[in-house]
This record gives sequence, structure tokens and C-alpha cells, in this order.
Amino acid sequence: MKIGILAVQGGVAEHERTLRQVAEKYEGKPWGDLEIVQVRRESQLEGINGLILPGGESTTMSRLLTLSGLDKVLAAALQEGLPAYGTCAGMILLASNVLDTRPDAIWLHGLDITVRRNAFGRQRDSFEADLAFHGIDEPVHATFIRAPIVEEIGSGVEVLCREPEGRIVAVHQGNVLATSFHPEVSGVTEVHELFLSMCEEAGFTYK
Ligand code: GLN
Repeated sequence: MKIGILAVQGGVAEHERTLRQVAEKYEGKPWGDLEIVQVRRESQLEGINGLILPGGESTTMSRLLTLSGLDKVLAAALQEGLPAYGTCAGMILLASNVLDTRPDAIWLHGLDITVRRNAFGRQRDSFEADLAFHGIDEPVHATFIRAPIVEEIGSGVEVLCREPEGRIVAVHQGNVLATSFHPEVSGVTEVHELFLSMCEEAGFTYK
């Protein structure tokens, strides 16, 4: 299996480290041979079975994606069924509607959700919590850093996790997964494992 990490800006190394941890955990099994590639150009999507969109600053990523033309390539790939997992800014990029962003920001319409950027306010802009996560047995230790909230979901969207006040912080639709928080910062591997299972099930290879 080959997984790309969008590497125009943001927390690429944390995802790479988490995927390597998963590979180590599954040594000798198919996931033990995980190939990881950083994606900055269209040619680097070649052969990937899934793409991770990291945390960072969604408006900066948006600008860089527009400049390189990757925005259109990624939107089309998502339409074709490319499995994707976005954390925080990555979730924002995967949304179909974004509130409280810059007027020139773009997003990729991979998930039928409306997200609000920086939705936790100043006092709670960064915090951690152990959260029940649908499809994962143990509570997930979630790190929130100026995180977005999912304010609306379309009918095909499954809610996987809510923060302590009940707002939606993880969703799944088709081949796309997104979390407002950063398991890759907490050292949690289970959400990435869930994503790899989705990639396996999808059986998609980018050509
Ligand atoms: N607030 C950032 C944004 O709007 C996201 C923060 C993050 O990815 N940790 O892009």
C-alpha cells in the first residue's frame, strides 16, 4: 500500500511518523510494507492508494494549491474516489463549505460538510480530551489546536466522534475521513489504521 501526504505546508512529519509507527506495528503483514510519499506535485500522486491532508493553515494551503493547480487535480481525484484523510486544516480543505475563512480561500468538496474555522474561541483554542470514536474500541486521545467544528452534515455523512460539548469533530463519507483534531500529535495510531482499512476496502490506485 502506498499513502501520499500532501506536503505543501503544515504537519507532514507527524503523519509520516504515525504511519511509520503503524508499519512497525504490522511488520510482516501487508501494512508493514507501507510506502509513504510526500505530495507537492501531481506526478507524486502516481500509484497512491490514499492521501492524507495534514494540519497547518488552511488558507495558506489553499493559496499554494491554487498556485500549483493541485486544487483542481485533487478535487477531481476525490470525485473519482481517491481515499483521503484530513486532520484539522486538512478537514477544512476537504469540506464542501467553510465559514470564517478568507474570501479567496478554496476547498475541495470531498465531504458534504460545513465547517467553521477556529471554532473553539481563544480560551480553549488548544486542548486535549479522551473521546469515544465510532469504529475504535478505546477512547481516542485527541489534541485540538485552533480546531474547526463541523456545523452541518449532508445525509451521506456518518458522525464518528463528538467533543465533550457534543459538537461534531470526526466524520466519514464514502472514502473520505476527517477529524478536527490531531491523532498524529497525540501519538494515537488507531485513526490512521482506520484510514488504511478504508483505503484497502476502496481498492483505489491513482493513475
Ligand atoms: N486554524 C487552522 C486553519 O484554519 C487549522 C489549525 C490546525 O490545522 N491545527 O487552517
